[in-house]
Amino acid sequence: MSSKPEKPELRAKVLNPKRTRRKKFECSRCDIAKYSAKDYKILFEARKIIYFHFPAPSRKVYCHECLFKEALSRMKPHEKFLKIFVEDLKEGYTLSVERENQ
Ligand SMILES: [Zn+2]
Repeated sequence: MSSKPEKPELRAKVLNPKRTRRKKFECSRCDIAKYSAKDYKILFEARKIIYFHFPAPSRKVYCHECLFKEALSRMKPHEKFLKIFVEDLKEGYTLSVERENQ
């Protein structure tokens, strides 16, 4: 069923509130995103915020905005974009992060 796409270098794992017993959700990069499990569940379901372990399998947690910033900071100077494979509940998807004009 799954055709093999080109291999992304980095992986991120969605922190699904249904699949974790974590009580507190906070981003390791910004101070804005801090939520209780209950709030995160609501926000996650409303697709307002998603936390990721990044780079998986590390346990570091980033909000979706910081995931992009963090990915950009890992990009090598010659790279124009970076692919991240995102693991979700059933199947994953690949995100392409493009370098912003600097
Ligand atoms: Zn953040």
